[in-house]
Amino acid sequence: MSGHQLRLYNSLGRRIEDFVPLSDPTTMYSCGPTVYAYPHLGNMRPYVVADTVRRALRWKGIGVHHVINITDVGHAVADTDTGEDKVEAAAARERRSVQEIAEFYTRAFFDDITALNVLPAAEYPRASAYVPQMIEFAEELEKKGFTYQIPSGLYFDTAKDPSYGELAQMDAEGQLEAARVEPVEGRRHKTDFALWRAEEPGRRRVMRWDSPWGCGAPGWHLECSVMSIALLGRHFDIHTGGVDHRELHHVNEIAQSQAYLGDGVPWVRFWLHNEFLQLGAVKMAKSAGGAPRLADLVKAGYHPMAFRLFLLGAHYRSQLDFTTAAMDAAQATLRRLVARVQPLRPLPKTDTLAAAAQAASHDPAAASALDQIDAAISADLNTPKILAILQDALRAPAMTPDGQRAVVAAADALLGLSLATLDPADLDQGRAKEDLTPAEQNDIEQLVAARTQARKEQDWSRADQIRAELDARGVQVTDTAEGPVWQLR
Ligand code: AMP
Ligand code: ZN
Repeated sequence: MSGHQLRLYNSLGRRIEDFVPLSDPTTMYSCGPTVYAYPHLGNMRPYVVADTVRRALRWKGIGVHHVINITDVGHAVADTDTGEDKVEAAAARERRSVQEIAEFYTRAFFDDITALNVLPAAEYPRASAYVPQMIEFAEELEKKGFTYQIPSGLYFDTAKDPSYGELAQMDAEGQLEAARVEPVEGRRHKTDFALWRAEEPGRRRVMRWDSPWGCGAPGWHLECSVMSIALLGRHFDIHTGGVDHRELHHVNEIAQSQAYLGDGVPWVRFWLHNEFLQLGAVKMAKSAGGAPRLADLVKAGYHPMAFRLFLLGAHYRSQLDFTTAAMDAAQATLRRLVARVQPLRPLPKTDTLAAAAQAASHDPAAASALDQIDAAISADLNTPKILAILQDALRAPAMTPDGQRAVVAAADALLGLSLATLDPADLDQGRAKEDLTPAEQNDIEQLVAARTQARKEQDWSRADQIRAELDARGVQVTDTAEGPVWQLR
């Protein structure tokens, strides 16, 4: 079976293109987490999507060198160029050292992506370990005349880059509206951004380095350019991240990298962006606090693989609404899948189209299902389609058990749902209120009280948002004459 051409939607140009790797292995960089708070369910989507790219490449027999960075310095509160660092603010809030904060939330991130079966990246560089290279990079930009210095630091002059903002496909005003509004004294153009953030007089930072532009810290965008070039080479094939990065962070990464390289070649060939996971019709956001995490789902009786299935049930470029009803449906689907797969175990190991085709060579119905799976993954990672093909194959009377085994193993090599090993008993839902710890009960009581307060103030959108949060934790609130009562579903 020769297979279909892998085609991916490239945000740079906004079109679907054939993906042919430049190098073997191909190279991929994913913007990683800012480790100042627990990652929420929405934060998991980009890594499940990057993981799907990994699995699609493996399926095609293409090796990949994958890097996910850890942002432990440089990301300012509200994504701006000035102001407090997110990690430092968290350390002050939690009365812990910045190292402890970064370490703790990095571990939380690893726990979650591991529970979600995300294939490990080759490297997870920490921004704080690359500051000398970032300074060198900024010095090179300075030498080439792309920068200017003002009291708040060293800025990249976007007017020097005629193709600035190409990725965002917006004019500068639109981009700024979408992303950043803070005024900075002395900044020449609103789109200019900090390469180096000098310490404000009298406000000593915790994480600080000496630089030619004063003691301070690197700008947030710089780290991704520096670490990706250091680990993947001057040009690489794929860069991934959430769609919120398309308008600003990635625009600035491109501007500074292309200025630095100065070879007239696009820095990265493919830019892939996932749409948001929404909660109560708004983007699930970390900075707002209270967004549900994977651990909340597990406590409410859901299996992490049910959440993975829920994510993969939508195309990565569509917005997806998180609801308990959708999670219930995902867990039920997973339970049905596992029940049908169990009698077929053990499954063969067919990670690639070539291996799967070999395993199904005596079964035309299975070979046809494999061809459909290959067509679906090749069409910009159509995971909902693969799920549908998998479900059909398990019902298909014309398929031999060996054919079914090959199809299930192939679909799962791409979906990563652990269908070969999942224990059906793990998918039985249900938890009583009495199983909650006092702290968990207290959390819920507080959310219920906040909702009551919001309703009293007629702040309906806030009340809806809190209800959605409660819903995500499996808590159902009923308003009675005596006030609200809650129970676990
Ligand atoms: P952060 O840890 O905030 O730097 O974000 C890590 C990744 O999560 C980035 O790629 C973001 O674009 C992405 N992200 C943040 N919120 C959401 C969301 N609600 N849905 C999907 N992706 C998100
Ligand atoms: Zn980045």
